[in-house]
Amino acid sequence: MGNIAKLDLTKSRQIFEGAKKVIPGGLMGIRNPKFYVPDEYPMFIEKGYDGHLIDVDGNDYIDLVCGYGPIILGYNEKEINDAVFEQIDKGFCFTLCQESQKILAEKLTQIIPSAENCVFVKNGSDATSLAVRIARAYTEKRKVLRGGYHGFHDWCVQPTAGILEEMRKYTIRFPFGDLDALEKLLKEGDVAAVITSPLCHNLCDDVKMPEEGYLEGIRKLADQYGAVLIFDEIRTGFRMALGGGQEYFGVTPDISCIGKGLANGYALSACVGKKEFMECVYKKDIFISATYFPNSLEMVAALKCIEILERDNVVEKIWEKGKYLTQKFQEVSKNSGLPIHSAGIPVMPFILFDKSEPKHEAMTTKLFTEMIRRKVLLTPDHHWYLAYRHTYKDIEYIANAIAESLEAVKRNL
Ligand code: PMP
Repeated sequence: MGNIAKLDLTKSRQIFEGAKKVIPGGLMGIRNPKFYVPDEYPMFIEKGYDGHLIDVDGNDYIDLVCGYGPIILGYNEKEINDAVFEQIDKGFCFTLCQESQKILAEKLTQIIPSAENCVFVKNGSDATSLAVRIARAYTEKRKVLRGGYHGFHDWCVQPTAGILEEMRKYTIRFPFGDLDALEKLLKEGDVAAVITSPLCHNLCDDVKMPEEGYLEGIRKLADQYGAVLIFDEIRTGFRMALGGGQEYFGVTPDISCIGKGLANGYALSACVGKKEFMECVYKKDIFISATYFPNSLEMVAALKCIEILERDNVVEKIWEKGKYLTQKFQEVSKNSGLPIHSAGIPVMPFILFDKSEPKHEAMTTKLFTEMIRRKVLLTPDHHWYLAYRHTYKDIEYIANAIAESLEAVKRNL
């Protein structure tokens, strides 16, 4: 098999040149080309359908990033479009609220174990920041122990330009999986909240299931030291199980944050939790206000999305497909003889070169170059997500493309 041609990305490049003049860096955050393989990946998308994206140059890709998680069904989902169009006809941004918000809150209380009350916001970062605010109001303590990435707000990001050290003073990171380390921090006192995803997931790293007893251990420690336990279920919500990681692992936090997967791409997240804690919002008059929080299009999309998730047994089907994909990844990784392994969990798959291998960075770049040229959109920096509309044919195609690409990596060594 010979070399595969570079994609025609003429229009993407043109738009990017224009964008650089009016947008810092042309593309912000993780969408910047430096996070993919520069000059190989498309930069601008025209449209999507099912598990596919079509870029502005007309290249059609199988996309295994799913917008970094929100796409749980597929792109351009007709039933959701119809529900949203119907709402557009009535309007969706009003002086006062619409009933869809109450109906969605009722639905979430039925499917998420910790949810007795819900507050709707927009991004995952809004939901985690709000959860922390509620925990501080409830406990009247200051410190937050955090287990991973919880969004881009000042209290929880790594120190970068523009973030005051004072803003992060009361946020302390604990290593996922280490109950002793967590207890040591709790013992120091003044801890309002422990916030963690039920899964371990760091950028460019494997996704790991918690060891048996770990989440139960956190639950016990939080209770023992009077801290509010917050599960950040932004990634795990709806994908691991309809009720998130807390349903999957059978450990119920006090407050949970959900977002990705809730509305199949519409900007909606929520902070949900037990009444005892959530009531503080009203009783202690916690300030929550944003112009677009009550907009109903997102709520209508979420209601339709959850209806489809339940009706079509979507989560179970994504797991089945994920297991098949993982098995294929294991086969091709093993057959390649390269220091690479199938990583992630079936609904959030990934493959990783062994980081102790000196050439792992060059091999990673080559692999992702070959994959994008074969029109499979993956990111080297973040695990991937599976959606309901990815077909077994898509999976076979991806597995074959990886096998071919790994051959090219070997030829390149
Ligand atoms: N928590 C987790 C676990 C996340 O993965 C993310 C987003 N990647 C966030 C919080 C923040 O969500 P958002 O980007 O929607 O603000």
